[in-house]
Amino acid sequence: MKKIEDYIRTIPNFPEEGVMFRDISTVLSDKDGLRMAVDQMAASLGDEEFDTVVGPESRGFIFGVPIAYNMHKAFVPVRKKGKLPGETVSIEYDLEYGSAELEVHKDAIKPGDRVAIVDDLIATGGTTEAICKLIEKLGGKVVKIVFLIELEGLKGRDKLKDYNLVSIVKYP
Ligand code: 5GP
Repeated sequence: MKKIEDYIRTIPNFPEEGVMFRDISTVLSDKDGLRMAVDQMAASLGDEEFDTVVGPESRGFIFGVPIAYNMHKAFVPVRKKGKLPGETVSIEYDLEYGSAELEVHKDAIKPGDRVAIVDDLIATGGTTEAICKLIEKLGGKVVKIVFLIELEGLKGRDKLKDYNLVSIVKYP
């Protein structure tokens, strides 16, 4: 039987020289790969009490929505600046070169809401750290964080050591 890692494709030198890009589109384009990825990520959330799945644009949407739907939870999108129509809270965070800004609707998370963050991959952890701060600004509590893939060498987990973080496939 195939494992999820068998569906992940590695593309060298994307988006720039020296980067080994872990491509999840080949997980999605196989009916067994897609089901296995969503089911295993959902199973890793199974015993956690939470209200809402939060997923960042855009691969966090792909996994976050089917997980929320299957578990009968709400889904809240985190988007790049300027995309959400309602009143938002935003946070700026550092990228390798420059910075980026993420936003969430102010009324999407209520004080005391228990939140699970879902994304495809953790690299440096900067994106997820910013999302945790956004949720906490609104009074939400991050009870679990789930990734399909963890790039362990980039030590993103160290940035998030106060959180309950799991990943399904690990690369050194
Ligand atoms: P971080 O903020 O942890 O450094 O980067 C994580 C974000 O970058 C995730 O939202 C993820 O989608 C994207 N990302 C970075 N490297 C890769 C990669 O090799 N493959 C995929 N699929 N996404 C990546």
